[in-house]
Amino acid sequence: MNHIALLLMPLVLCCLLANAVATETAPRPRILLLTKSSGFEHSVIKHDRRGTSHVERILTPLVDEMGGSLLCTKDASLINAETLEDYDVVIFYTSGVLTEVGEDGNPAMTEEGLEALFAWIRNGGGFIGFHSATDSFRSNGDTPTPYIEMLGGEFITHGAQFEGTIRNVSAGHPAAKSLPESWDIQDEWYLFRHLNKEHLHVLALLEIGDERQKQKMYDIPDYPMIWCRAYGDGRVLYNGMGHREDVWEHPTFKALVEEHIRWAAGEGSLNADPNYEAVGLD
Ligand SMILES: [Zn+2]
Repeated sequence: MNHIALLLMPLVLCCLLANAVATETAPRPRILLLTKSSGFEHSVIKHDRRGTSHVERILTPLVDEMGGSLLCTKDASLINAETLEDYDVVIFYTSGVLTEVGEDGNPAMTEEGLEALFAWIRNGGGFIGFHSATDSFRSNGDTPTPYIEMLGGEFITHGAQFEGTIRNVSAGHPAAKSLPESWDIQDEWYLFRHLNKEHLHVLALLEIGDERQKQKMYDIPDYPMIWCRAYGDGRVLYNGMGHREDVWEHPTFKALVEEHIRWAAGEGSLNADPNYEAVGLD
């Protein structure tokens, strides 16, 4: 080795170290997006003539810019122990009982696959559900299914769309850093049951406002619309928004989606202490 090489060595080592640190602070999440609909298929996840859906066309460049990778699929059989090993974050925009082929005809997941999903999350995986994810594996009654227990709530019904206010109740949370204190937005607002009060860290409430006077079913107290929780060593987040195409196009929503993904992938503090009562809910 000549003198110049010797002189350069500390510099090279330094660069290697800096690189390693950079990789650690900015993970490149490997993401699997499942949009199988064993029940109703939303228009935003329907494959059109281009062979892709609106949500896929929003997420693809977003994940690209994050330096991550994204597999978009409607094949629920990919939810199995072997495949999950290759991913950091799984996103569901699904409906119905995914262990059944159901309405869209795409392959179902097996019971073992569903168990593997739970085990993978408990082992440190990140899970995000959007909108109709709470319309999968619904209970028939008083007891939530294991999936609903994991996700934190179950879809009951919805009324006509209206402009609601999303109220940030966990300012500065890493999973929703850029969410304004209050954000007025038109969407279809789900009503929930089996909200897992013991485990949920509520990030945002839906403020119903004047709609209480217009639609009877919304004549209820404000309730959680975005929440997260710890599940074993894993991170789970649900965002009830995203029925409408223009919600997915909204810069505020896109920024949120990116923060959801980063948090689910393990970036930033967990910050998932249950806060149901602390934010004024009962
Ligand atoms: Zn919807």
